Amino acid sequence: MTKQPGAGTDAVKTPVYLDYQASTPMDGRVLDVMLPYLSEKFGNPHSRSHAFGWEAEEAVEVAREQIAEIIGADPKEVIFTSGATESNNLAIKGVAHFYKARKDHVITCVTEHKCVLESCRTLEREGFTLTYLPVRRNGLIDLGELSRAFTERTALVSIMAVNNEIGVIQPIAEIGALCREHGAFFHTDAAQAIGRIDVDVNEMGIDLMSLTAHKVYGPKGIGALYVRRRPRVRLTPLFDGGGQERGFRSGTLPAPLCVGFGEACRLARLEMADEAKRIGALRDRLYDGITTRLAGVALNGDAMTRIPGNLNLSFGHVDAEALMASLKAVAVSSGSACTSASLEPSFVLKALGVEDRLAHASIRFSLGRFTTEAEIDFVIEEVAREVAGLRESDPRGQAAE
Ligand SMILES: *Cc1c(COP(=O)(O)O)cnc(C)c1O
Repeated sequence: MTKQPGAGTDAVKTPVYLDYQASTPMDGRVLDVMLPYLSEKFGNPHSRSHAFGWEAEEAVEVAREQIAEIIGADPKEVIFTSGATESNNLAIKGVAHFYKARKDHVITCVTEHKCVLESCRTLEREGFTLTYLPVRRNGLIDLGELSRAFTERTALVSIMAVNNEIGVIQPIAEIGALCREHGAFFHTDAAQAIGRIDVDVNEMGIDLMSLTAHKVYGPKGIGALYVRRRPRVRLTPLFDGGGQERGFRSGTLPAPLCVGFGEACRLARLEMADEAKRIGALRDRLYDGITTRLAGVALNGDAMTRIPGNLNLSFGHVDAEALMASLKAVAVSSGSACTSASLEPSFVLKALGVEDRLAHASIRFSLGRFTTEAEIDFVIEEVAREVAGLRESDPRGQAAE
């Protein structure tokens, strides 16, 4: 470290991790419950003839209950997958393929995660009709526009609960009600919602919901798809095999990962309310700290309807690449997806109508369970100093606007 951290921040280890929406560190308590299933309790949970299998199966079923509990579901409605990418593929392609003889129209939104958008592109190539709803400047869909998009042939609506870049919360219960009214199934990608906001599949009229463990302090490589049983949702599986998971998802379950996912959900359910308050206060401290020190900073996404840990900011009058390069002491995501040499502005920010130059110079700060006040104060000083420095040294940037 050649750079001197600001006064009073000596205790902060750098880089400071503010990328909790990309992945969360595993909680130590989650690791503890997983360890026995990585060593002596190694049985195949599908083995029916001996105690090794029974013990693994019992642990998997406890985990299934813990996951069901955090979403208000019946454990039988929880299907284990490898993560939200697989769950989204299974939900969207599975429903579309099963019901295609009668219904071949799917509605989604332009700011969905790539795995939802690409699943929809695949359906389009297969001959399905897709509607991609726009979002308003605040990142939320227009319910009137959704109402008008339904047709007699609409099989499925897939709208995410919480956006991964700007943290906004879509009106899930209202979308669920509209889907019921129009006889379409409602799928929501809730990878960013679990453990951050309350989600209840019955209260919100959700028929299918994608979850992943590594965004709630659980292990990577495990997720789940909630599939409603009453009224029953049918799916064509993505692949063939032994017919595990009610026939929706063949393959041997990774018992240690399932157990970790279950414990992560149990902890999230117990601690979410207090955690949301603490993280929300830290996020507000970060926003206030940055905006009192710097002018020309804009918040992306609705100011109120967002999860506590997200802050997506555009910095006027700075060069995007220089900004990212200067913030070495902070691990964050930029508003640009860096593909090889070219910097593409985020398609989510573009969909909000943020101009390219500003979309480039945007940063997603995402806070979580282990974020401290000292870290936030350190990051405020870092950002304020680096942005001010860049603005001074770049007359081109300064002169803009
Ligand atoms: C992280 C994320 C995914 C992908 O989840 P994986 O478990 O990593 O496959 C999908 N959707 C959203 C909104 C996400 O944030």
